[in-house]
Amino acid sequence: MRAKKLEKILIRGPNWVGDAVLAIPAIRAIRARFPEAEITLLVRPFVSGLFATAPFIDKVWSEPKPSSLADWIRITREIRNRQFDMALLLPNSFESALMILLGGVPKRIGYATDGRQWMLTDAVTAVSESRHQMQYYLDLVKVISATVESPSIEIEATRHERDTARKLLATEGIAYSAPFLALSPGAAYGTAKRWHEDRFANVADNLARELGFCVAVIGSEMERSIATRICERMASPTAVLAGKTSLETLIGVLAESSLMITNDSGPMHIAAALGVPTVAIFGSTDERVTGPCGPRTRIVKHRVECSPCLLRECPIDHRCMNGVTVDAVCRAARDLVQS
Ligand code: SF4
Repeated sequence: MRAKKLEKILIRGPNWVGDAVLAIPAIRAIRARFPEAEITLLVRPFVSGLFATAPFIDKVWSEPKPSSLADWIRITREIRNRQFDMALLLPNSFESALMILLGGVPKRIGYATDGRQWMLTDAVTAVSESRHQMQYYLDLVKVISATVESPSIEIEATRHERDTARKLLATEGIAYSAPFLALSPGAAYGTAKRWHEDRFANVADNLARELGFCVAVIGSEMERSIATRICERMASPTAVLAGKTSLETLIGVLAESSLMITNDSGPMHIAAALGVPTVAIFGSTDERVTGPCGPRTRIVKHRVECSPCLLRECPIDHRCMNGVTVDAVCRAARDLVQS
């Protein structure tokens, strides 16, 4: 393939924040393969903040999930109007392939999933189902000879993101330069991924006391009640930020934090990619596939025969999470902070 023929590239980004972080090395590889091309990333609004200042993307095109057929046709027409030379699909959905087919994109690349092979010009077969998600995306872009020797997932918060975060923290009682640990006790996917609230509170109190940290509990609006309950159990100075941050402000909060204790979630991947020491608690999911990627991470997991189940709700006694102790999480955090 001759790179100069590809002037406009569309990348359909993942719909989950964590997956979008794990796609960064693959997107960087495309940038490196086609340095002159105009690369547009089509993503949902709640993911777009991750790429707002990314140097490897030329345009971020943010669209909510189409609310009607007319809306879906509008986006498809817009793809046609923009005259892309190539589209690369990171989601595995039938719908995403149909959109770029009807959008008239001549070269269409994606995994051969969901019965969509006939719509793709390059339908790629996955190497293995247990591939780490970051590697899964990198495998896909190899089809256009986009490779990088040491794929970098690292991201940086902007000055503006850090300042906005510090202002929010200050209004929530954490002084401007005070060190703090971030807790992420939610998990949008379902309760199966969530460790116990009282244990999060114990870990945070123990570490805050030992290390002289304040605590900030992050999460979505839906997770605010979890954050509030944890805060009520704690003795240390704690700010509840759940539901109060845009994605950009959340990036700033995590970049400013000294330590992150988290379930398997989107914020876990952001913190790890920012290089923040990150302790991730795993149970129902497979850390070999969705574990955090970054220079300073630890996974705490209690091995049980039913894991990974990948279920949203535990149908039995949540033994994977019951077996994760406060001590084990504190130990992992101390190791990480002192290493
Ligand atoms: S079924 Fe097993 S792995 Fe899945 S949530 Fe329940 S205890 Fe955890």
